[in-house]
Amino acid sequence: MEADFQVCRNCKRNVASLHFMLHEAHCLRFIVLCPECEEPIPESKMKEHMEVVHQQGRELYHLLEEKPVVIFANK
Ligand SMILES: [Zn+2]
Ligand SMILES: [Zn+2]
Repeated sequence: MEADFQVCRNCKRNVASLHFMLHEAHCLRFIVLCPECEEPIPESKMKEHMEVVHQQGRELYHLLEEKPVVIFANK
């Protein structure tokens, strides 16, 4: 018996061909790849994921990469 898999373009996971159409339809609608860690995350959890997993890293990244920005740039 051959295991028949296809790689989902959305989440880049192997999915059994039998379930692939169903998976892809669901995946495209609800799953997004996190731009930071490239993990498939449910869209509804993305904000939470960003806050919980990446907030520290993002702040650090910005501190390291960007020159201080004047935040209060109102006239
Ligand atoms: Zn998928
Ligand atoms: Zn992430």
